[in-house]
Amino acid sequence: MQYALVNGIKSEASPNFKGLCICCGNEMISKCGKKIIWHWAHKTKCECDLWWENETIWHRDWKSKFPKEFHEIINIDDLTGEKHIADIKLNNGLVIEFQNSRIKEEEVLLRNNFYKNILWVVNGLSLRESDYREFCIALDKGNKVNNIPLTYLFNLNDSKIAMDWADCNAPVLFDFSEEDLELGKVLWLLIPTANQDKRVVVQLHFDDIKNLLFMDLDNNYMLISAIALGAKKLLNRFMTCEKII
Ligand SMILES: [Zn+2]
Repeated sequence: MQYALVNGIKSEASPNFKGLCICCGNEMISKCGKKIIWHWAHKTKCECDLWWENETIWHRDWKSKFPKEFHEIINIDDLTGEKHIADIKLNNGLVIEFQNSRIKEEEVLLRNNFYKNILWVVNGLSLRESDYREFCIALDKGNKVNNIPLTYLFNLNDSKIAMDWADCNAPVLFDFSEEDLELGKVLWLLIPTANQDKRVVVQLHFDDIKNLLFMDLDNNYMLISAIALGAKKLLNRFMTCEKII
């Protein structure tokens, strides 16, 4: 993890430090080597948060786009006491999970159900070498249905990475490490619907959506509508997207 409690303060790892886990309260030791990302690890093996994924530079780059107070936030289910650490949780309740490795569909749905209001950001370059190329070809084969924001309707079958996330009932942003010098990071939003053949994907820039992420929206459908289609006509336009499908 990036943080542990040192004298009660949420702190980043530095060499030879000890702290307490923000989730389970057990002792943590800092891991600070030349070839690793500095982090905290439990001193003795424990099943603190089985959903926690070891962080990469990609995770840290993404987290650094948000103020520190929103990083690594503990979520507790009031009924069961189940606890998990969200990568990012904003004041409006939106959880943002950064996913670099393969994850089973069932686990995605478990997390969606646990966090309720969640946005996934998926590293599009980490699984298969062909994912990005295949995604671009899928867009080419699909129909462009809008120019601003650039929106396509495409066949799920044409893109394995889109298929991987087809059953996710929360919005997914694919990050293929595309960068626009003026507009910032380029992302592709896969809009969740029940349709198993066709999907709408929308090209977004992080700089365009970052303010929307902090808006107080009721649930992730409002969020994706707002992100994808602009806050002004959000529901109207989202319904149009549904109709296109
Ligand atoms: Zn722990």
